[in-house]
Amino acid sequence: MKKELIFDHSITVTQPSLPNYASYIAYVKDIWERKWLTNNGPLHEEFKNRLKSYLSTTNVELFTNGHLALEISLKALELEGEVITTPFTFASTIHAIKNCNLEPVFCDIDPVTYNIDPTKIEELITDKTSAIVAVHVFGNPCELEAIQAIATKHNLKVIYDAAHAFGVEVDGNGIANYGDVSMFSFHATKVFHSIEGGMLSFSDEMLSPILNALKNFGITSPETVDYIGTNAKMNEFQSAMGLCNLEIVDKEISSRKNAYTRYMEELTGLDDVQLLKLPENIKPNYAYFPILLKDHKLRNFLSDRLTKYNVIARKYFYPLCSQFECYDYDGNETPVALDVSDRILCLPMHANLDVKEVSQICDIIRYELGDYSE
Ligand SMILES: *Cc1c(COP(=O)(O)O)cnc(C)c1O
Repeated sequence: MKKELIFDHSITVTQPSLPNYASYIAYVKDIWERKWLTNNGPLHEEFKNRLKSYLSTTNVELFTNGHLALEISLKALELEGEVITTPFTFASTIHAIKNCNLEPVFCDIDPVTYNIDPTKIEELITDKTSAIVAVHVFGNPCELEAIQAIATKHNLKVIYDAAHAFGVEVDGNGIANYGDVSMFSFHATKVFHSIEGGMLSFSDEMLSPILNALKNFGITSPETVDYIGTNAKMNEFQSAMGLCNLEIVDKEISSRKNAYTRYMEELTGLDDVQLLKLPENIKPNYAYFPILLKDHKLRNFLSDRLTKYNVIARKYFYPLCSQFECYDYDGNETPVALDVSDRILCLPMHANLDVKEVSQICDIIRYELGDYSE
């Protein structure tokens, strides 16, 4: 331990962005005067339209959170049987599949991008397969064309968990425009948030009425309930936060870029540390800063040591979803994912992280890796 590198306050892995207080309060005052709190209020509608234009996409619906949005999308697509997905994701992805009575079939990941490996999808397709649920892990886009080609050939739906990928573009095209459906999370810990919140973008506009019904108890008119729906509506206070944060999101992403650039400058070339390289043809959102350590023991050592300096790094995603106690899989069918999960560590990354703080975190990492003995 090097005492002078200890932070006097906790450096968390993420921190919610907060807009100008007065601008949020101005929206709240309007809500008070209108007395319209939820169920497609005017702020909900305005937020929806502003998102369409920010994300350059056509069909979107809003939800109370990303998880229920994902679950509802699987239901709306009337999927059955098996769904090919990745174990290297947040619990939500697999819970959504399971909650729709679908069977997740775990496909291994690419060791460089950590996304589902398209070359391993086809061997998992059976006559029960109905969809591919892929995740843009850490906001880094999946191999969109390869996945779509497989889906088209085998008549499968493609659902992207784009929870990490708000604002990302590929060859100048918004990431919301790929697959049959993409889910975005607006949770407080994400690059862009509405406190809690979620969004679906989708290619077939005919999905809109069923998505709207499913998030409102399956009600399709005052006296008709056509589906066994749930309650997953976004309210006016969430929409207000989303509208305020949309004003500052570009600034937030550019602050993240400064932190990202400093990390890359200081950690590139370090033995035992592999960095995630962003492809040239994308506009990234700098959602996370993952590093891959040489082995499991070194990852755990570094994570523990960082905590002693008040730096809270997180083991995203560890364990694999396929290793969770609540299911009955074992994780061994995806050796690459298992290995990455054992060695991954996400360093603090948010818009309020100062580049000096980033440098200090990197000093700690260099010092502690030097101090490590096997
Ligand atoms: C955050 C997250 C979700 C869930 O979104 P919520 O808005 O928190 O419900 C789903 N998938 C991934 C990969 C996530 O990171």
